Amino acid sequence: MNASSKSDDKSRCASRATAAGKRPVPGAARAPAPTRVKFWGVRGSIPTPGPTTVKYGGNTSCVEVRADGQIIVLDAGTGLRLLGLELVAEFDTQPLELTLLLTHTHWDHIQGLPFFLPVYKPQNHLRILGYEGARHGLQVVLAGQMESPFFPIGLREVPANVRIEELKTMSFNIGPVRVKASFASHPGKCVGYRLFTSDGSIAFFPDNELPRQDASGHRKMIDFLRGTDVLIMDAQFDTREYQQHTGWGHGCLDDVVALALQAEVKRLFLFHHDPNHDDARISQMLVHARKLVAARKGKLKVEAAQEGATVKLPAPGRR
Ligand SMILES: [Zn+2]
Ligand SMILES: [Zn+2]
Repeated sequence: MNASSKSDDKSRCASRATAAGKRPVPGAARAPAPTRVKFWGVRGSIPTPGPTTVKYGGNTSCVEVRADGQIIVLDAGTGLRLLGLELVAEFDTQPLELTLLLTHTHWDHIQGLPFFLPVYKPQNHLRILGYEGARHGLQVVLAGQMESPFFPIGLREVPANVRIEELKTMSFNIGPVRVKASFASHPGKCVGYRLFTSDGSIAFFPDNELPRQDASGHRKMIDFLRGTDVLIMDAQFDTREYQQHTGWGHGCLDDVVALALQAEVKRLFLFHHDPNHDDARISQMLVHARKLVAARKGKLKVEAAQEGATVKLPAPGRR
């Protein structure tokens, strides 16, 4: 993983040109900027600031993907606020176009939206995609958290062009990026996504339990994830904790590693860190996950998702 670099800058320029509707330069069309994934929020349930979470970060679910000229944001947890600051600095007065893909509308996946600076700039276009909330339409749920007395500005009053679309199919496109969705095992309606970019695929299941008794669900998940280059998945509990939280809708680390090995995933990022896990605990879980892979002589690379970290696709040497 690398921090921002020159190639990231190129990727940003390509995205900005697309967002501004400028004609791309011919050379850029032949060699598009590599796909990159950046973690803005990796924590589950509730933000956890403080000295014990500095390494992995305390903001909730938000991941940015730059691929094939698109800016795709996965979830709008509190990490979205930091992404907003960077996007405003990058685009300044240029129009910004982005697609926000929501997995579900639990607080830790939507609370960054009212603090996302690009929605307060009239030149910006935001397309928000997701599936119907557990009981209400997506629009009602997202606007609800910004209604008085919860927030001073309503979602319908913000200056940016915000389009909220409830998805009805499980396969669609964002520009040239093909997206497939699959329902997750989690309370209410929740999905995971797999994005197929020209540099490989990225799967995102921030909230998901792998029920041990559900053989057909397990097979379906393996088929959905088979050969994924970068899998970002809920691995909130260790085995002992999972026994006390079975049915809560969150992943057990050992089960997630086993699934990733079976599905021949290349890189796994442990995600939705438990609010009660400090940096040391998450590092221990990572060591355990790598031992599981080594014991099975797997090629899978495992990391614990870290706020601010960037992942590039394709893996070095594949281009
Ligand atoms: Zn969550
Ligand atoms: Zn949730």
